[in-house]
Amino acid sequence: MPSFPSKRAAAFADIPDVKWHDWRWQLSHRLNSIQDFEKIIRLTDSEREALSQKGLFRVDITPYFASLMDPENPLDPIRKQIIPTAGEINPFIGEMDDSLAEDAHSPVPGLVHRYPDRVLMLVTTQCASYCRYCTRSRIVGDPTQSFRSKDFEAQLAYLRQTPQVRDVLLSGGDPLTLAPRVLERLLSALREIPHIEIVRIGSRVPVFMPQRVTDDLCEMLQRFHPLWLNIHVNHPNEITAELARACDQLSRVGIPLGNQSVLLAGVNDDPHIQRKLVHDLALIRVRPYYLYQCDLVAGVGHFRTPIGKGIEIIEALRGHTSGFAVPTYVVDAPGGGGKIPLNPNYLLSYSDHKVVLRNYEGYITTYEEPLDYEPIDPALVTPFIDEGLEPGQSGVFGLLKGEQMSIKPEGFDQLHKRGDKIHRLRADPEKWLPRGIEDNPSSKQSP
Ligand SMILES: *Cc1c(COP(=O)(O)O)cnc(C)c1O
Repeated sequence: MPSFPSKRAAAFADIPDVKWHDWRWQLSHRLNSIQDFEKIIRLTDSEREALSQKGLFRVDITPYFASLMDPENPLDPIRKQIIPTAGEINPFIGEMDDSLAEDAHSPVPGLVHRYPDRVLMLVTTQCASYCRYCTRSRIVGDPTQSFRSKDFEAQLAYLRQTPQVRDVLLSGGDPLTLAPRVLERLLSALREIPHIEIVRIGSRVPVFMPQRVTDDLCEMLQRFHPLWLNIHVNHPNEITAELARACDQLSRVGIPLGNQSVLLAGVNDDPHIQRKLVHDLALIRVRPYYLYQCDLVAGVGHFRTPIGKGIEIIEALRGHTSGFAVPTYVVDAPGGGGKIPLNPNYLLSYSDHKVVLRNYEGYITTYEEPLDYEPIDPALVTPFIDEGLEPGQSGVFGLLKGEQMSIKPEGFDQLHKRGDKIHRLRADPEKWLPRGIEDNPSSKQSP
């Protein structure tokens, strides 16, 4: 196995190994105050100011993860992810409380049903440590606001009655911080629902507290296959001997591992850093899955980059390195539109039988299309048509299939009935109607 460093801050040098490698010790010795941090790093004025603010998003960091920071460098990419700075306090244009409109998509508390066949299930508000750019800072971190068994019951009841859901993503908070028995009961209950094909866990526990990935945990998880797990690594410095060991153990019990990272100014907004990150992830058998544009939530203003930075990173990866190591760059649409993938343009032009394409090197080529293409015989497709799909969500694919001719923005039809009095009254007639045009009696319609 490739070797990665293992670090322990000088302040923890005397902690016996059995304690250091015990996740319970790591959880109960988290750092959260100016005094705690002063023992391991030299705080800047900006960090001090933020740490003494009231109402700050929760700070709590495992000794293991805190040890990965460079004690002297305020620009350290790990430090920036976990220690607040004054920049966090500044609001920015476009900031929202719930930028993904998750609450609006929740049929029951903690369950976000945004897509036709899969749901996000928030099972706790607690994490092993807290990321400064948390997209769910509106609920995460508050120990009095966690989900209880009656919430789980309501979530499970909804899932039992919703047969179109085939994929459940456990998130939060961090599902791997749940008491092992609670997590096990949840997984068992999900597995008893026949239409749920796969369960995914989104967790940063392997990164913040790899000690939690124990034989017992792996033994328990593997009883609930097919189970997938996405971890959250943003920078190559987070890849340590401990994380490599945890990922190896999870992979060995058959759990496919992916990584979701967030594009963060001053942390990983550079193609060289991203390239090293995806290569190191490949070494520990974790496949890069998504690279997220920062959501528009409070506290993240100083982490935001232009979207062009993400496209530049994909431009620098695609073709230049292993295809499976290139994540999909996505913007999670503000207002709740879901994830929107963004890519450089590779399609330059086309005619009725030729497509002009460019590759990562700028090489421009043509693909000659068939002139006698016949789509597959529908009889071969019929056995694969899924009758259980939720209607009304075919979207742009529905346009291609001819289900409808167009998709119209709200108010489109009203706006374009130019002869309609309703429209004239809606708009300010003095301002908007061409002078001398009389109301046309033949176009009068009831609203
Ligand atoms: C990200 C997300 C999913 C899963 O999306 P995939 O593209 O399938 O990984 C599901 N529901 C919600 C609300 C999400 O935000």
